[in-house]
Amino acid sequence: MPPIDEFMATSNVGIDAIRQGLKEKRAFTKDAKLFCSRCNKQETSARPLQSCSRCRSVRYCSRDCQVAHYSQVHKKACANFQDPPLCRAFSTKIALPGCSYPESPVFGLGVSEAMGAWVSIGGSIDCRLATLPGGIKGRPPKDESLSVSKLMAMVPGMMDGKYLALRIMVQNRAPKAKPMVVVGKAIGAFASAKGTPLFLAGKEPGEINAMVDYPHLGRVMGLAKVSAEITHFNGKEIKEAASCSAVKDADMCAVLLNVGDYAMFNIEFRAGARGITHDFQALELLAHVLVPAIPYDPDATESYAKLLPRAADLDQVCEIRAVIDQDSVGAWYKDYKTQGESAYIASHYGEARANMIGAGNQQMQEMLQMMMQMGLNSQ
Ligand SMILES: [Zn+2]
Ligand SMILES: [Zn+2]
Repeated sequence: MPPIDEFMATSNVGIDAIRQGLKEKRAFTKDAKLFCSRCNKQETSARPLQSCSRCRSVRYCSRDCQVAHYSQVHKKACANFQDPPLCRAFSTKIALPGCSYPESPVFGLGVSEAMGAWVSIGGSIDCRLATLPGGIKGRPPKDESLSVSKLMAMVPGMMDGKYLALRIMVQNRAPKAKPMVVVGKAIGAFASAKGTPLFLAGKEPGEINAMVDYPHLGRVMGLAKVSAEITHFNGKEIKEAASCSAVKDADMCAVLLNVGDYAMFNIEFRAGARGITHDFQALELLAHVLVPAIPYDPDATESYAKLLPRAADLDQVCEIRAVIDQDSVGAWYKDYKTQGESAYIASHYGEARANMIGAGNQQMQEMLQMMMQMGLNSQ
């Protein structure tokens, strides 16, 4: 077998192993049992549980349970966005077997005018900032040409990463019908006063950073946005934004949220600089995330790139500001900082995945060395 085929064959084995791990994880979460939030009765296929239509974060076996629970317990939690909607893509509760952490950490929650936004982390499980924009780190290149530089970017630790991916869950919980459009492309992340000069040190040619004056924060920097995409609507994965009827402007990632609806975004920022190579280093220097939403006008036909500034002129923008809770960030990454990468992966994603990732990385490194020795296609 020629060396390149051999490489592709072995690296595919590694990728298959990772996929298998993901499949097992999915099967586990799929089988997770659902219980009535009041009486703990388990869901059966004959009697599926109904969720609170405003928050979708609790489920009930009956109307009686819902009514009683709402007045006794749930009313406040529902209104103050205590829990995000229950969905597999943003699971803040279910712990995988052998793991001590939920799958999606919550690093910040913002609430404004009955709209809420939770901030979590995207990127990859080794906590390194991505080396390539667009979230393609760790995935095999789509095109056929496999260059040394591309390969290097895929091997953790070979190059310093630059891109921080945040996952943002947004939900409309208006007590009365008030459809809102969240403009994903305009979601911003702002550095702390301490972080601003550090992020600026990594500024790239042509990069535009908005500087904003905040009374209690001083002059802070808006991180340069690299990409924005809508990944889920009401818990379902969106492959083609344009084919989802709730998406009103695919270019601007504008999603219509009626009461109870929720959408998830993956937003990527250039955050790397000297000494900022890992997700937690970037997160520690973030102050808040700002998610803009505007009232839905069914007659509007223009791009949300125009509708958003116009709404701002009319003072109609609902600005959901989620402050980054540094205690949550610290707690989530504690294992990484005290015991290193594989201990972190094991405690967050399971021992099996930690081993698979380790083996996969080693394989990639070996193959990379081999390719470099062959002097292959080194642009
Ligand atoms: Zn019940
Ligand atoms: Zn509720």
